[in-house]
Amino acid sequence: MAATALHDLTVAELAAKLRRKELSAVETAKHFLARGAAHGELGAYLAIDEEATLAQARAADARIAAGDTAPLLGVPVAHKDIFVTKDFPSTAGSKMLQHYRSPFDATVVARLGQGAPGQGAGAGAVTLGKLNCDEFAMGSSNENSAYRPARNPWDVSRIPGGSSGGSAVAVAARLTPAATGTDTGGSIRQPASFCGITGIKPTYGRASRYGMIAFASSLDQAGPMAHTARDCALLLSAMCGPDPDRDSTSLDRPAEDFTRSLDESLDGLRIGVPREFFGEGLAADVRSAIDAALAELRKLGAKVVEISLPLTELSIPVYYIIAPAEASSNLARFDGVKFGHRAAQYADLLDMYKKTRAQGFGDEVKRRIMIGTYVLSHGYYDAYYLQAQKIRRMIADDFQQAFRQCDVIAGPVAPTVAWKLGEHGNDPLADYLADIFTLPASLAGLPGMSVPCGFGQGHMPVGLQLIGNYFGEAKLLSAAHRFQQATDFHLRRPEGC
Ligand code: GLN
Repeated sequence: MAATALHDLTVAELAAKLRRKELSAVETAKHFLARGAAHGELGAYLAIDEEATLAQARAADARIAAGDTAPLLGVPVAHKDIFVTKDFPSTAGSKMLQHYRSPFDATVVARLGQGAPGQGAGAGAVTLGKLNCDEFAMGSSNENSAYRPARNPWDVSRIPGGSSGGSAVAVAARLTPAATGTDTGGSIRQPASFCGITGIKPTYGRASRYGMIAFASSLDQAGPMAHTARDCALLLSAMCGPDPDRDSTSLDRPAEDFTRSLDESLDGLRIGVPREFFGEGLAADVRSAIDAALAELRKLGAKVVEISLPLTELSIPVYYIIAPAEASSNLARFDGVKFGHRAAQYADLLDMYKKTRAQGFGDEVKRRIMIGTYVLSHGYYDAYYLQAQKIRRMIADDFQQAFRQCDVIAGPVAPTVAWKLGEHGNDPLADYLADIFTLPASLAGLPGMSVPCGFGQGHMPVGLQLIGNYFGEAKLLSAAHRFQQATDFHLRRPEGC
């Protein structure tokens, strides 16, 4: 039997081999760099720098040789280009930051990788490069990247989902064993679902936002994307933990080893299925994959109970008021003075601001800035922004109500499988509507994940969404792990990868 190719190994397997010195970090990095180069047509990467990667790999090999046992030593990962990195450019998928270099690593990057002064040694992962994403993480298809769309490896005429599209593509096509993503309204779960991989967004505040280029600060969360729940658990354990000196919304909750409880039995686990997630908007192919997954979970001992999240539909208008409001404020910093692009010619300071922003931002970002400033403006603040905040609170309360009847909530991640590139044309609302099932957990700050659970139309992957109560990541991961032990959807691969 042929030996398993390096790119078929999970993070857990790779880490074990590296620790036993059966592989070196340098050869592992070279293998994945070569795969990345061979699959450029997928548009997964925005930046690679072989020298920078190999330097990190050599440092990891030196740590291994010195007997260091950090959990991810030498394991390659790639980062969504929304995390700032000192060894690679950081663009947020925007022309505004085309040549931007950060003087430091985001906390999540440091924790997974080489550590940072005052922050410990880091788990030892090696950065393969920076991954494509929608501009400033605004989007559901990766088509809002200012550089190029990424393509779904299951069908290159389709979108991979967004905004962490490059992350999902790179993992699904085995260009990296794992990647980071960020999820503001679904950007880890939705592309994970569309590309047939596993991804988790933790409870808001678990992972530091320091060095994550801000979109909507009350929603943005980092999380891992990989093939298995075990790998997500490994990465998430390294990523999370308090960072009070750098992120004021980082929670004072110690880092946790999420791999410890993976094998917990599902016996008696109450899985709540929200009625509102199964309405007429849900495509039949997605529905049958989700129904089959629920049947499988029942076989594993879980009890499925119907619950209600009555405000599900309102999560779209609420999110698309709050997120643009926060974005309009966060993006005010890109004025041509402090970071990135500055217009080459201008008459005076105001003209410089205007030209810089007109040139640097893409259409979707401009649309959000305009909506955001509108809903925050005098006279509209009460009618839109304040109202949205009130409903946001009610959505969070509904979840607490639901969690009296169940331990975990399950349903679809998205109403359909991945659509065709260009299919939504110039209709941003079509993209927004596709977020309906991921937005509620985001607005409530709850952890959520996507687990591969079948295939729909065009043999495109379907993800099962699991939503937990605050700090319920371990429960989600063990449910996903048990499911993955009984199924093989997470192991299937797109043709040619
Ligand atoms: N699709 C949503 C949006 O466009 C969510 C994006 C995200 O989670 N970053 O805002």
